[in-house]
Amino acid sequence: MASEPEKAIAGVWYPAGSSRATPASLSAKGSEWKAVGSDGAVLTTGGFSKLEISARVGAIPRRITFADGSTFETSDNDAIDAAIKPHGGRAFGLVHSLERFHPRLALFVVLVVVLAVGIYRYAVPAMVEVAVLVTPPVVPELLGQSVMASLDQTVFAPSQLDEDIRDGISKDFRAIAAFSERGADAFTLNFRQGGPIGPNAFALPDGTLVITDELVALADDRDAILGVLAHEIGHVEHQHSLRQLYRAAGVTGLIFLIGGDIGAGIEDILIQGAALTSLTYSRGMETDADRYSVELMYRAGRDPAAIARFFELLRDHFHDNSESDFLSSHPATPERIEETRRYAEELRTGGE
Ligand SMILES: [Zn+2]
Repeated sequence: MASEPEKAIAGVWYPAGSSRATPASLSAKGSEWKAVGSDGAVLTTGGFSKLEISARVGAIPRRITFADGSTFETSDNDAIDAAIKPHGGRAFGLVHSLERFHPRLALFVVLVVVLAVGIYRYAVPAMVEVAVLVTPPVVPELLGQSVMASLDQTVFAPSQLDEDIRDGISKDFRAIAAFSERGADAFTLNFRQGGPIGPNAFALPDGTLVITDELVALADDRDAILGVLAHEIGHVEHQHSLRQLYRAAGVTGLIFLIGGDIGAGIEDILIQGAALTSLTYSRGMETDADRYSVELMYRAGRDPAAIARFFELLRDHFHDNSESDFLSSHPATPERIEETRRYAEELRTGGE
């Protein structure tokens, strides 16, 4: 109590509901605070616990609001802090004022940050899922057709493979695709000369698969080829390319697609469809497709670890991931090969 300031704090006083300032001083001694006019008359008085004291924000004058609604204003922030200090833990008025004033700005900033982070972390993936759900089947079909047509015009040449080889791969492909959820008829395997894209295989969202002559020539190992195709079936089953496309469309595109004019939204997506071929899958999607390949090959009675052999083949042939389109989007890391082998072994030993 002895440390409480004796000195009056200079400022101005406003009667309740009035903007008429009266020069005054604040006597902030003990639990009873008083605003005193320049003539020494007490203008108002109030118990500390009933006061509302604005928080300190830079050099902005502090306002002390008394229970009668009148306010005392001062720019002597240090003096107010010193006067509040002795009240420490039982400063109900102070806590109340903190809740009412100061946190508003901080709360707003926090909300904006949380919202922004939340949209990117949760809302976009959720919106992508909704968009995938509301996508009519015609969209992946149109996408598949238009991308295939433009690739045929610009990149591909007709396959030069022996018909026997193509027939053999097609037959084996249908046999493994028959064990997929969609069934063999949901997939179409196309053979093309890859030209600039070299040894490659990819899938479009409608179940159109492409395998290049270069890949077939590289992998003198039927199961390895089928392992890659099973991996691509996995991308289709999980609708990975549609998801990546929607993710690339961004928040505005998704709002447009889900909430707005669905026709116009799809048109936009179709225009961007050409970008499908340059979209790479996330690491998580690649892992999903690898596991899918292992499972599908296992169900079809083929070597479940075949996809790992294929990655080793490519790695040994190219030495460097950047030399191959397929490797640059499907890095043949030791972890990936190891993980695929481990999962295949798990299926072999655990699932009799
Ligand atoms: Zn992949």
